[in-house]
Amino acid sequence: MSKQKIKSLKPPAFCWDCQYNIAYLTDNRCPECGRVFDPNRKTSYLTNLINPKHPSFNILFIVFCTIATLVVMVPYLNVLNIVLLFATIIATVAAFMDDDHSYRTTSIFALIYNLMLTILALFILYKLSSL
Ligand SMILES: [Zn+2]
Repeated sequence: MSKQKIKSLKPPAFCWDCQYNIAYLTDNRCPECGRVFDPNRKTSYLTNLINPKHPSFNILFIVFCTIATLVVMVPYLNVLNIVLLFATIIATVAAFMDDDHSYRTTSIFALIYNLMLTILALFILYKLSSL
């Protein structure tokens, strides 16, 4: 098997079979599943993911922040902010364990945002219970 250098693909480029990110590879074979692709033929690889291997963390964080903002305004329903904070912590840990670093800024922002909303929610609950 000859291992000739090939022109590497520019992102977005993903394997047809396993959706592995094949951009910048110097081999025309997917390192994950072994499927061969031709960099000169756009039909031999995917340029967008319908079912991404990794969840789209950015959308997840936006959803968490949006729900957290909505529930904090509803008396007694704002206990859900604690649940959302835990969900954000889990997603932040997952984002930091992922090789893709693009989620990290969003994850830290979402974590601080939902932490502040949870403190606000607890403060509102305290005020409601002491009336
Ligand atoms: Zn593959």
